Amino acid sequence: MIQYWENMISREIGAVDKAHAAVLLPVSAVEQHGPHLPVGTDAIILRALLKNFSKVTGHFQEDEVIIAPQITVGKSNEHMDFPGTMTLTAKTMYDVIDEYTSAIAKWGFRKLILTNSHGGNTDLLNLLSRDLRIKYGMEIYVFDWWFTDFWKEILQKVQESKSPYGVFHACELETSLMLHIAPQMVDMEQAKDETPDRQFEGDRFISLYGPVTMGWKTRDVSHSGVIGDPEEASAEKGQVLMDFAVQKLTAIIEEILQFHY
Ligand SMILES: [Zn+2]
Repeated sequence: MIQYWENMISREIGAVDKAHAAVLLPVSAVEQHGPHLPVGTDAIILRALLKNFSKVTGHFQEDEVIIAPQITVGKSNEHMDFPGTMTLTAKTMYDVIDEYTSAIAKWGFRKLILTNSHGGNTDLLNLLSRDLRIKYGMEIYVFDWWFTDFWKEILQKVQESKSPYGVFHACELETSLMLHIAPQMVDMEQAKDETPDRQFEGDRFISLYGPVTMGWKTRDVSHSGVIGDPEEASAEKGQVLMDFAVQKLTAIIEEILQFHY
């Protein structure tokens, strides 16, 4: 059974079989998501995914998976040209996650899964995972759906955005998920395709995926704050994406529980 840390009694957390448990630490963001999505999009999507995941039965033993309190604000300084964005500096966020981990380690847990919904957090989490491994001796995993192939199989089936950056930020994927989770928060009349061209595609060598990459902020590549094509989004796609994510996350957590290093 999957539990939320906050809903457990102290003595229950004390009694968990730590040799067979994993803690998920959700890390997200509060930042502009174009003219059509709420600033909490990354946090809302992750919270909804974990809520659906927490209802999965038949795969996990009692208290085998525990969801720690979500870190809602992340590192979003690339979006600070747009109203409503909140950000932690890399240094603060490093310390916050280190201190969460310190508490989780103190109560004896051996496996921590940094569970991320915002691409701007990715580099920091990968760096942290090694430092936390060395400092606390825990197994530290990073689950990230940006810059990994997490959505690949399902996007091959449902994606209609044309450009390679059709799925990036406030895009077809995020807008579809939000139309499924909280349609009342989405203003589809304002949803407009904005796909960066040269800044991301570059010349021969400069591109987002290298060999020469750039330190960029959202204003460098987008006027509206959108990177992608939210006009292709739909609630039906959002449902399909959510179902896929719950199933795949379940398989991922099962593998992590069996993996030891
Ligand atoms: Zn987002």
